[in-house]
Amino acid sequence: MAEASLYRIRRLVHAYEGGTALRIDELAVRRASIVGLVGPNGSGKSTLLHLLGFIHAPTDGTILFKGQPAGPFSESVRFTVTLLPQESYLLKRTVWQNVRYGLQLRGHEGGQQDRVREALQWVGLEPDRFLHRKWYALSGGEAQRVALAARLVLRPEVLLLDEPTASVDALSAQRIKEAAMRARKEWGTTLVVASHDRQWLYEVCDNVLHLYRGRIFSNGEENMLFGPWRQRGDGRFETHDSDGASFVVDPPPSPDAVAIFGTDAISVSCERPSREQPCVEATISRLLWDRSTGQVIVSFLAGSRPLSARFSAEDIAEKQLYPGRTVWIGYDPGAFRWVE
Ligand code: ADP
Ligand code: MG
Repeated sequence: MAEASLYRIRRLVHAYEGGTALRIDELAVRRASIVGLVGPNGSGKSTLLHLLGFIHAPTDGTILFKGQPAGPFSESVRFTVTLLPQESYLLKRTVWQNVRYGLQLRGHEGGQQDRVREALQWVGLEPDRFLHRKWYALSGGEAQRVALAARLVLRPEVLLLDEPTASVDALSAQRIKEAAMRARKEWGTTLVVASHDRQWLYEVCDNVLHLYRGRIFSNGEENMLFGPWRQRGDGRFETHDSDGASFVVDPPPSPDAVAIFGTDAISVSCERPSREQPCVEATISRLLWDRSTGQVIVSFLAGSRPLSARFSAEDIAEKQLYPGRTVWIGYDPGAFRWVE
């Protein structure tokens, strides 16, 4: 039977001189799946993509690719895995030379014209207009699309995209998303995408992984409460919110620890809960449909603090959770996990 997981990671650690940037105990990526990576800057998204792209080897642990250990020089990955970096880079040559480059490296001599034209068409760049453009005659979004075309021309089995739409115009972003989805549809390409565009990720991904301080907090929409925590008269601790939306917890493991919690730790109601139940007042700011689970992710603003939770579509209708509505969010500090 064919190995269902394209990647299998065990006890992976990656450290730079400044310290550990990534620590993943276990992760599997299925063939032809779409995996999203979200998390604040510095959480380890690019590091994970570099390791999945075998650009460098992890400090410790193994990455199995198709069931076999693989590394930066493995034959099994050289022609099949490709990364579009956050700061993609074009050769100081024409579009044609840029897109053709990977094919040349891989020794594809025949049919280059057709493959290059096809790749440009996929990213919405008319070949007759763009083939002979020089690298400096492209807008930022067009350059990013050329960089993507230079990966698509390889018909990769794995396409790793690091914030592919972060600094491009809306049309380019749309074309980039369409081309990535088309690769998965036509070739079964596995996609791993780091992006701040949550709406897109939740629409297309089979799995959205949340990274924070080099760790994965998967299964859903995670909330984070940042320190510093301030001690109150009763010995408990609270967040420092100028707008009154404070969270109260038992002593945290350290004054700067981060509390992480999902939907299981909160309850949402339209009336104020009883006095004993700790709660904050919040306004619903957005509803987002998660295709992979069929659930709806509800975003709230408690003061200026963003929070979110998942509900079934039936719950949304029954509780009448619509944007603009004010609700009370009860929380259970005992269900918080802590990261120091
Ligand atoms: P993200 O892509 O989520 O913003 P990164 O993977 O780029 O996160 O970074 C994770 C952590 O590793 C950060 O603390 C960052 O400063 C550090 N880091 C990333 N690349 C390097 C590097 N080449 N040398 C040293 N530290 C790095
Ligand atoms: Mg990054």
